[in-house]
Amino acid sequence: MTTIHDLFSHNRAWAAQMEKDRPGFFTSLVKQQTPKFMWIGCSDSRVPANQITGLEPGEVFVHRNVANVVVHSDLNALSAIQFAVDMLKVQHIMVVGHYGCGGVMAALNNQRVGLADNWIRHIQDVRDRHWDMLEALPEAHRGDALVDLNVIEQVVNISVSTVMTDAWAKGQKVTIHGWTFGVHDGLLQDLHMSVASHDGIAPAYRAAMEGVVAARR
Ligand SMILES: [Zn+2]
Repeated sequence: MTTIHDLFSHNRAWAAQMEKDRPGFFTSLVKQQTPKFMWIGCSDSRVPANQITGLEPGEVFVHRNVANVVVHSDLNALSAIQFAVDMLKVQHIMVVGHYGCGGVMAALNNQRVGLADNWIRHIQDVRDRHWDMLEALPEAHRGDALVDLNVIEQVVNISVSTVMTDAWAKGQKVTIHGWTFGVHDGLLQDLHMSVASHDGIAPAYRAAMEGVVAARR
């Protein structure tokens, strides 16, 4: 059983090993971070951005919350995105949902969990918007489909934010991607919801929606 004290001994061993394998690793990190990627994922402990993608410290800028939601009025998420785009000049932002997500399942099943119900309400809005599609799927596939739909809608939310509108107007090259992660197999899936301009939103959205239905029928 890992105790809280073990975290410090693990940390010291990790730092020593890194410095042994790659002398100067930390001193070069101090100088700057130049990540090309921003990861927006679920807080779920089974979905660690760096480990899944093989990215090192300094290579991915991360924002996580319950069920990887980006709300238009969430200054926390928007500030992180703005910093990543304007200051760090990331080239890719990926919204990464995961199958079996507790937040998404609670939304689907109207499960009350407490204060977070108000946050999860955003996913219920996604569920309600696409209910005709979800209802037509086998019941066992609706949870996975809602994970996909939630990711696709969050990609749209980022794409229409002032941050992205301004960045694209300036000609900055940033692509927003929608991915999911399988906790059961450790694999990332591309939902083909990739948007690199304002005009790209609608066609990507239509194609990704068709993909959700095709995969879950
Ligand atoms: Zn989750």
